[in-house]
Amino acid sequence: MGNGKAGDVNEKRLIESFIGLVKIDSPSKEEKRVAEYLQAQLRQRGLEVRQDDAGSTFGGEAGNLHATLKGTGAAGGAGGSAAKGHTPLLCAHMDTVRAAPGLEPQIRDGVIHSDGKNILAADDKAGVAAILEALTVIKETGRPHGDVGILFTVGEEIGLFGARGADKDSLAGDLAFVFDSGSEVGTIIVDTPTEVDLTITVTGKTAHAGVEPEKGINAIHVSAKAMAALPTGRLDPETTLNFGVIRGGVATNIVPEHTEIEMETRSRNKATLDRLVAQVEGAFHEQAKSAGARVEIKKDEAYRGFKLTEKDEVVRVAMEAVRRLSLESRLSPRGGGSDANIFNMRGLPAVNLGAGYADDHTSRETIPVEQLVRAARLALAVIDVLAPRG
Ligand SMILES: [Zn+2]
Repeated sequence: MGNGKAGDVNEKRLIESFIGLVKIDSPSKEEKRVAEYLQAQLRQRGLEVRQDDAGSTFGGEAGNLHATLKGTGAAGGAGGSAAKGHTPLLCAHMDTVRAAPGLEPQIRDGVIHSDGKNILAADDKAGVAAILEALTVIKETGRPHGDVGILFTVGEEIGLFGARGADKDSLAGDLAFVFDSGSEVGTIIVDTPTEVDLTITVTGKTAHAGVEPEKGINAIHVSAKAMAALPTGRLDPETTLNFGVIRGGVATNIVPEHTEIEMETRSRNKATLDRLVAQVEGAFHEQAKSAGARVEIKKDEAYRGFKLTEKDEVVRVAMEAVRRLSLESRLSPRGGGSDANIFNMRGLPAVNLGAGYADDHTSRETIPVEQLVRAARLALAVIDVLAPRG
């Protein structure tokens, strides 16, 4: 499929473009080369492109790419506004979860694999390639379209930094479609958790462990008792908690004075999340108090969840686009955050869309060619849905 009627996605070209993209290694903070490449690609397709300085907010070497394709207008004039009064912002992230140097993707039985050593980097180069292909088809066919905004972000994998650092006024659309979910095309992520990260420092008192342990307060033991009193893992269908990092202690013969614990909790239910954070604080304070230790807790909302329904315009447009591919929409929850979380937090309605890849963040990562083609068709369909009707 995919090389059918004129004006459609070109499967061969799309695969080549995708493979070209994954071969440009771009782990978070090292997006300069891929940003330069994409800047040129977007200009070739007639878009105005600008790079912002979001990279400076997290030590990255490149910023986000903001691009605009001016609408053809219903009557062929410049700068046409969409019939429904909305401008889509198509978004994908340029960084990958880790480096994949010398990656040689392989296609077997219609599925693109990594070389088995590396990630495939379909997360999120599939999203980038899909959007680029849609722009290519538009240029090729000269079909009428409204204004289209494009945003390729940096630093997504290490904390959604690009989306966070993007100047809201410079976002070139008012409904955002993020192509960044490791699920089949047709999936529309409408329900995501809020994540709170906690750094907990327990301070006890050091002493010689063999000679005068009674003078010490063991920070590791206090921390362990607090953690043992708390649940971990999946706590209910929409809530998780994880103790991720623990540091402390110097030697076996020294009562440890400090422990630092890094942990996170996520829930799609805000009340549950608030209760859980209070429970964590309570457990540490209680154990610290009974042992005479001190505890300091830093809380940080990593991103806020969103809940959208079929009543939301951004969901309706996504569903209509999926329908035009003769596919069934699946409105679905997801246990993680994406740039869509940041956009919704900032008042830009956004959905995260299935981009067709699977097993992302591992060397087993794959994307079926059919899914890649569908992702590009979906990007094109979103633009078509919002095109002016004249
Ligand atoms: Zn991603």
